[in-house]
Amino acid sequence: MSAADFINNSPETKPFWDAAAIGRFVLPRCRECRRTHWYPRGFCPHCMSTTLDWQESPGNGEIHSFSVNRMGTEPYVLAYVALEEGPIMLTNVIDADPATLSIGTRVKLVFRPAIGQAPVPLFTIA
Ligand SMILES: [Zn+2]
Repeated sequence: MSAADFINNSPETKPFWDAAAIGRFVLPRCRECRRTHWYPRGFCPHCMSTTLDWQESPGNGEIHSFSVNRMGTEPYVLAYVALEEGPIMLTNVIDADPATLSIGTRVKLVFRPAIGQAPVPLFTIA
């Protein structure tokens, strides 16, 4: 089993990747306190309930924090994105000039195809 198989097939994350495979972005949502969270796991990090659902998200948010890595052939942006629903995701901001980014820049989710696994959720300028 590869790392990708493990990520895609663990019970906590499989619904996320199944949705991603058909272009839907979903977040785990607690049935008890009704808050969403990220990353997917078997319990709510806010109230510890194990009764969770999945809620579709439009994938809108803003840059909470970011850094530009210039060690490779092209710079890339590693960022924490605060989603409108509340959770903060560690992700990449793509197709953007790093010089134009700042904390608070509005971003939106894009799925980027990945070889041998479900599309990966990334963000670009909204
Ligand atoms: Zn909860």
